[in-house]
Amino acid sequence: MDNTITSNEKETRLFGKKLAKRLKGGGVICLYGDLGAGKTTLVQGIAEGLGIDRRINSPTFIIVRKYDDFWHIDLYRLKSLEEARAVGIEEILSDPKNVVAIEWPEVIQDILPKHHIEVRINIVGQKREINEIIY
Ligand code: ADP
Ligand code: MG
Repeated sequence: MDNTITSNEKETRLFGKKLAKRLKGGGVICLYGDLGAGKTTLVQGIAEGLGIDRRINSPTFIIVRKYDDFWHIDLYRLKSLEEARAVGIEEILSDPKNVVAIEWPEVIQDILPKHHIEVRINIVGQKREINEIIY
């Protein structure tokens, strides 16, 4: 387990950027943390690290966004595994060349691929404590 403290948004983005550099052509990153923890910020860094120059944001109600082989998925509004299946989560996860970053992955816990990266972000005042576990 790897533990990192970031002091601002930029440092969290940089964490994501570095993480992306370690993904060799595919991978699933699960991002856990409260609203405002910095999950989307970290995803912006992942996209940057993958060389995607489009802006990554989180408009309400959009669950799945695709940028070439990079997928940004936000399951915040979903209540069940069935709802996640309905948006095609299994197909997305099954293609090994996809890089998939998932916010609020709790509802798909039971179908996560054996190999994935778990990132947990805790809010500690103005700082963020980021724990990473590689499965
Ligand atoms: P989430 O997707 O987890 O809901 P966001 O990435 O959308 O969170 O928002 C994180 C918010 O917290 C932003 O407003 C950002 O400016 C702020 N923030 C403060 N400190 C940090 C930090 N160390 N890392 C990331 N975001 C931070
Ligand atoms: Mg978010």
